[in-house]
Amino acid sequence: MVDIPSLLSSGFNLAETIKSIVRMKNEVEKNKAIRELDQTYMALREEYGRLQEENEVLREDNKKFKAWDTENNRYKLRDFGGKTFAYELDPEKANGEEPHLLCPTCFQKKRKSIIQFTRKLGNGQDSYRCSPCNEYIYLGEAKYEPNPPGRHYGEFDPYP
Ligand SMILES: [Zn+2]
Repeated sequence: MVDIPSLLSSGFNLAETIKSIVRMKNEVEKNKAIRELDQTYMALREEYGRLQEENEVLREDNKKFKAWDTENNRYKLRDFGGKTFAYELDPEKANGEEPHLLCPTCFQKKRKSIIQFTRKLGNGQDSYRCSPCNEYIYLGEAKYEPNPPGRHYGEFDPYP
């Protein structure tokens, strides 16, 4: 196995290697040197292929990040009350899209996920669902009914 980084840092010179092989008189040594040179070439080809694949993955990632940068500028983090947050489409950058909200968790992972309204909760919050997260997101300030007179928090009368 040819160690390419150490080969390249050792000052490997292809032309000089070929010249020295050509000058060899001993056929056994000459064939051995040719085999070693062939192994080096094969290792370099393999490494080149690996680097090409790696480069392709990085190009795709870069493309996605650039697309995400453009896309995420269309949204603003909004407090819906009670310190509940979601990303909201900026109406000025809607480009004809309907108003919608994005999941804050997905947004942090550079993933655009439109959350779907499920229902209005008894405490006044709106419940939304993010499918990729499989999570519910509750937006708006939670309003609780004040305790009725004579009753205190923690007391529960099952037979009022
Ligand atoms: Zn999500």
